[in-house]
Amino acid sequence: MRILIVEDDPELNRQLEEACLEAGYVVDKASDGEEGHFLGDTEPYDAVILDIGLPKMDGLTVLENWRQDGRKMPVLMLTARDRWSDKVSGIDAGADDYLAKPFHIEEVLARIRALIRRSSGHASSELVHGSVTFDTRTSKVSMEGKSVKLTSHELRLLSYMLHHPGKIISRTELTEHLYDQAFDKDSNTIEVFVGRLRKKLGNDFIETVRGMGYRLPEDA
Ligand code: CA
Repeated sequence: MRILIVEDDPELNRQLEEACLEAGYVVDKASDGEEGHFLGDTEPYDAVILDIGLPKMDGLTVLENWRQDGRKMPVLMLTARDRWSDKVSGIDAGADDYLAKPFHIEEVLARIRALIRRSSGHASSELVHGSVTFDTRTSKVSMEGKSVKLTSHELRLLSYMLHHPGKIISRTELTEHLYDQAFDKDSNTIEVFVGRLRKKLGNDFIETVRGMGYRLPEDA
């Protein structure tokens, strides 16, 4: 799952990045509205943390422009204070949730998890597919009740696929959601990670759809 953080306070930007990385997300960052708007307009994100007060282009304008251009990724808006007018403007501009500063990083993470879950149509924080269970709160994976150890890359791949069961996902889409902007996207590592996940979760867990990509079979 790939997250964009748009926050001009360097210290807060760093804290958010650290927390998101620790939670297993891939992170891109911007420190002003123009850069943030550009990234959100050109890269696919699973969620965005967007500050309302930003240099060059304010957060509300950034969000309004995205929505006008049909960009639908879930957005958590950060407001400087608990001002009701900021919340109303944020929701009107198309924010999916908002949080007033100061906040606990844990609360940001909980809300991001919920936004990603809801945007992919999942109500519970546990994603279950066949005998495999993924707890989005703890990033723990189990199969038939037994814990399975995964590397961070395997976990990212599994998490993305579990959020989109039954959907054919191309290698390009996976690469875009598993790596940040700086990564060399010509890499064929996805195939390697799929292979490793099959070894750990069973050969039939991930299906190859020839010429198109991968899928978690719906009848698992
Ligand atoms: Ca700010």
